Amino acid sequence: MYAIDGPAVGRVFAAAGLVSAELDVMTLSRYWGTAVGLGTADRPDEEVHLRLPTGTRFLYIGRAISISVGIQREWVHPSSVSICPRCLYENHGRWPTSWYLPWSVVCPTHHCYLLSACPGCGNRFEPARTGFGRGLCGHSTTGRRGGRCGAELDHLPAPPLRDRELLDLQVWLMELMEVQGVARQGAHQIFGDLWAMACFALYMGQPRHLDGADAVVRRAFGSFREEFAHPLNGGLWLTPAQRADVHDTLVLAGALRIAGRIVRAEDPYAAAGLVEALEARPRSVGWRALRTGWNGASPLASAREAAGPRLGSLMRALLTPKQFEYDQSARRQAGLEHLSDREPEDGLGKVTR
Ligand SMILES: [Zn+2]
Ligand SMILES: [Zn+2]
Repeated sequence: MYAIDGPAVGRVFAAAGLVSAELDVMTLSRYWGTAVGLGTADRPDEEVHLRLPTGTRFLYIGRAISISVGIQREWVHPSSVSICPRCLYENHGRWPTSWYLPWSVVCPTHHCYLLSACPGCGNRFEPARTGFGRGLCGHSTTGRRGGRCGAELDHLPAPPLRDRELLDLQVWLMELMEVQGVARQGAHQIFGDLWAMACFALYMGQPRHLDGADAVVRRAFGSFREEFAHPLNGGLWLTPAQRADVHDTLVLAGALRIAGRIVRAEDPYAAAGLVEALEARPRSVGWRALRTGWNGASPLASAREAAGPRLGSLMRALLTPKQFEYDQSARRQAGLEHLSDREPEDGLGKVTR
C-alpha cells in the first residue's frame, strides 16, 4: 500500500497497461509530501517524490533508506483500514486510500465515526484478508475451528458524528492531503506539527480537554488513559508496539481534536499550556512518559522530529535540551532551516475558525 517499486510497475504495466503515475494515486505515495513522508525529515520536493515509486528508496536526512525501513517512521496503517460502512455500501465495496491513514477518523458524507475494528469479532479490518473484497469480515472466530466472522461490512452500525469542530477538522485534513503544487510544503509542515501534537495529546490529554466532543470520544479517550496508566507513577505507559499501534478512531479523534486546537491557535504555546502547565516545577509524570515515548524508534517517536519552527518554543519546553538540539541539527542537515520563522505563503497555517 505504501508504494509500488520499479520492477512491479513494469509488471503491472505489462498486465494492465497502467503507468506509474496511475499506480501512485492508488497507493499511499499519493499523499507523499502532505500526510506521508513526515518521518523522513527531508524536503517533500518533486525530486524526492519522483524518486519514490521507481527507485524503491527514499531519503532520511539525506540518507537513502528502503521503503520497509522508511515506513516504520511513518504514521500510516498500511495493512488495515478504518471503514465507513455506508460508503462501502454506496461504492459497491470499494474504499479510498485515505482510510489507511490515522488522519481519517470520521466520514464527512455520512456524519459518522469510521470503525477501526469489527464489532463482530473485535479485529481490525484488513483488506488483504479473505472476504474483504466481497464485503465480509474474514477473521476467523475463536469458537468454531476454521469459522469466519463473516460480518457484513457495509451493514455495520457506526457511531453518529454530531461534533462540528471534529467535522471541520476532518474536512480541512482531507483538503490538506490533496493539496497540489507549491502549497504542498505548507501542508506537509502542518501534518508534521499535528503529528507531534497528537502524541502530546495522547500522553497529556484528558477527557476534560475534549469539551464539545461527542460522548463516545470522551469515553474512549478516558478508557485509553485508564488502560495504559502506569501502575506506579500515574503517567501514561505505552509499550513500543502500543505506541506504534493506536488504531482506535475514537481515541485518535480525541487526540487530533486536541492537536488541531493547538496547531490552529494563534499562539500554540499558550494553547498547549491549557492541556499541560508548561512552566510547572516539578514537572508532571506524564511529561517524563512523553519524553521517553518520543525517544523510541516507533512511528509516534519520529513525530517529534516532524514538528516545525512554529512549534519551536513549545517543543523546547517539552523536550530535553539534547533531544531539541538533535532535532534542530537534523532539520539543518535536511535543508529545512529556510522554513524557520516563515508562515506558509498560502495561508494554510492560519487560524480558520
Ligand atoms: Zn461514509
Ligand atoms: Zn469480524
